[in-house]
Amino acid sequence: MLELKNIKKSYKTGDFVQHALQGINLKFRTNEFVAILGPSGSGKTTLLNIIGGLDRYDTGDLLINGRSTKKFKNKNWDSYRNNCIGFIFQSYNLISHISVLDNVILSTTLSGYSKKKRKKMSIEALEKVGLKNHIHKKPNQLSGGQMQRVAIARALVNSPNIILADEPTGALDSKTSKQIMDLIKEVAKDKLVIMVTHNPDLAKEYANRVIEFKDGEIINDSNPVINEEISNNKFSIKKTSMSYKSAINLSFNNLRTKKGRTIITSFASSIGIIGIALILSLSNGFKIKIDEFERNTLSQAPILISKQSMDMNSLKDMSNDKSHNLKEYTKKEKIYSLKSVQNTIHINNITKEYMDVIDGIDNNLIGGISYSRATNLNLYTKINDQIRSVDTTYIMSSLPTNKDGSDSTIMTDNFEMIYGERTSNKEDLYLLVDSRNRIDESILEKLGYKDQKELDFKDIIGKEFKVILNDDFYKKIGNRYVINTNIDDLYNDSNNITLTIKGIIRGKKDNMFAKISSTGILYNPSLMEYVIEKNNNSSIVRDQKEFDYNILTMEKFSSEKFDEEKNNILSYLGADTVPIAIQLYPKDFNSKDKILKILDKYNKNKNNRDKIIYIDQAEMITSLSGNIMDAITIVLIAFSSISLIVSSIMVGIITYTSVLERTKEIGILRALGARKKDIARVFNAETLIIGFSSGLLGIIIARILIIPINIIIKNLTNLESVAKLNLIHAIVLISISILLTLIGGSIPARIASKKDPVESLRSE
Ligand code: ADP
Ligand code: MG
Repeated sequence: MLELKNIKKSYKTGDFVQHALQGINLKFRTNEFVAILGPSGSGKTTLLNIIGGLDRYDTGDLLINGRSTKKFKNKNWDSYRNNCIGFIFQSYNLISHISVLDNVILSTTLSGYSKKKRKKMSIEALEKVGLKNHIHKKPNQLSGGQMQRVAIARALVNSPNIILADEPTGALDSKTSKQIMDLIKEVAKDKLVIMVTHNPDLAKEYANRVIEFKDGEIINDSNPVINEEISNNKFSIKKTSMSYKSAINLSFNNLRTKKGRTIITSFASSIGIIGIALILSLSNGFKIKIDEFERNTLSQAPILISKQSMDMNSLKDMSNDKSHNLKEYTKKEKIYSLKSVQNTIHINNITKEYMDVIDGIDNNLIGGISYSRATNLNLYTKINDQIRSVDTTYIMSSLPTNKDGSDSTIMTDNFEMIYGERTSNKEDLYLLVDSRNRIDESILEKLGYKDQKELDFKDIIGKEFKVILNDDFYKKIGNRYVINTNIDDLYNDSNNITLTIKGIIRGKKDNMFAKISSTGILYNPSLMEYVIEKNNNSSIVRDQKEFDYNILTMEKFSSEKFDEEKNNILSYLGADTVPIAIQLYPKDFNSKDKILKILDKYNKNKNNRDKIIYIDQAEMITSLSGNIMDAITIVLIAFSSISLIVSSIMVGIITYTSVLERTKEIGILRALGARKKDIARVFNAETLIIGFSSGLLGIIIARILIIPINIIIKNLTNLESVAKLNLIHAIVLISISILLTLIGGSIPARIASKKDPVESLRSE
């Protein structure tokens, strides 16, 4: 069934050519025990390696069942070795880091049977060679004879038709040698056994055919095959391949024998992962905290619609403007126009139509609404028994209410009534102080408490102000109005509205929103409605509406600005029905989005002049903080990535070391029929394990480090458990670690797969 036809093989070392086989013609029977005798260096091992498909012949042909192997590809040889050949070596060639049983199983993994069946086959083979009680030992715990028995079991387990044994007893004493020979003879009685030996006694005792070798030639054959003998034993060659699982198992066991190194490698390459994981958890955590903060406070920061507004978009465009190249333009003797900040200032003309839109917004979206009006309150109070006019700018604003006038959540959430009682009475005023009972000193001065460092509640509660209505405040002389100068009379007029401070409202402690609110006097929105209604009906306002000149100065309105000037004077007289500014407090983030959509819709199809531009204060703060966090995160991750790259190079070097250490194993695996691909797989499995374990280790260490980090942050900022490792981030990081180590290890894995099996076996 095997036939060698004029096989020649020579080795070149430098200029020297060693002819190991010089034209061998040989036929083997399906079932015989052949001993090959010859001095050392005569080409016996070379012959065996060629027969076994481990080495390639230069010229000639090897016929398997009459079939030429001239056109055999690597994979055909691999399958042939695994299916048809069982190798037994002088030095046993067992893999030292896996158990006896696993050594045998390894040989079967390439043949593709189920795991259970392979284990059963392997145990049976080990029982046959008498090692039933030693299957869980490591090879180095066995004697030489026992190790050779393992090798025999391994050679037999796939039931090959051919056993090739290269000086199987060369390292054993004569008693053990005999036992091993008996065993081989016994287990291979129905196979072709080709055994190399330099012990003629053993050859004569056990073999039924002795072939003598010298200088790469046959000098004697005791029982040559006569041409007429025909083989009727056909054998098929199945494909072989190693599963990823076996590759991982093999590498895992190998790594277990090098625990220290593996742990240090994994740790070193996990540092990058730890860094990135910590950065991600911190930035992630801070983002969550910022989000929470926004939800709690900023979401309630009002949308501001005021007379003067800034167009944030053109402001952004301006700061991003790269079109004006500094170097190029400064050389030219020219002046260019510039779009400056002034261009981004937009005058909002809040109209009745716009107010209808605001009124139409669903009540459920709004946490509160407050209007600022230009209405001129003719406000007077007594300071040290003297009647004084009160400058109302910046000291009075309306209580933020719901649209129906009831208390808004913006009030109840962020402020508390610390003194007095909240009423819906339009004559009642409230003093708004900050969380430490303070009030702006300029406001105190306007209220008549100049240079007072502190005030008792009872001094300020009950303080009265008088609003003098237009009909009393202005008197008509001829067709012109003048301010009534008899203030004492006016102050005591029964038509006046008397306002009284009835309570003190304080911002809640640690409340962001309360902190950014300005202090001062708050009035019920119904007060303004009342005053405007009265003013609108005053004779001065009625006359002003009719005439085309300023009724207070008698100056004519210029024709091109007529409307604007007329409206200004009407609003000065307190007859403005639309507010000059609106503060809209959304209930939450989603409500804000919906409100903004409504406001944007108003602007659609309007020309720029008529657009109403609002300022989304929450968004301004958010985008600022978000951008900074993102930028910091990216920079830090870039730094940590360097350590990831370094670690993947390191893994490459370590894998290469492993390739060097496992060279013998590569040879054994190839002898057992492993393909090049399978060898690459074994080393890729090794880097895969390192990549996974360093990724996992990195995540675990990062997770542990987060504990003290959070304690430190808590001490510094009072924020609870900021750093949080996101599960998806963890999984992605482990995957990155695996990917990078795989890349790092891929070159050494390729090198391993290309190693020559014969040379690998010879290495120590
Ligand atoms: P044997 O097994 O009979 O002792 P070998 O088959 O191992 O002999 O070697 C036959 C000859 O080929 C020897 O001279 C040996 O030095 C040479 N040889 C074997 N393998 C190589 C090799 N890889 N490179 C160079 N020379 C080799
Ligand atoms: Mg030899």
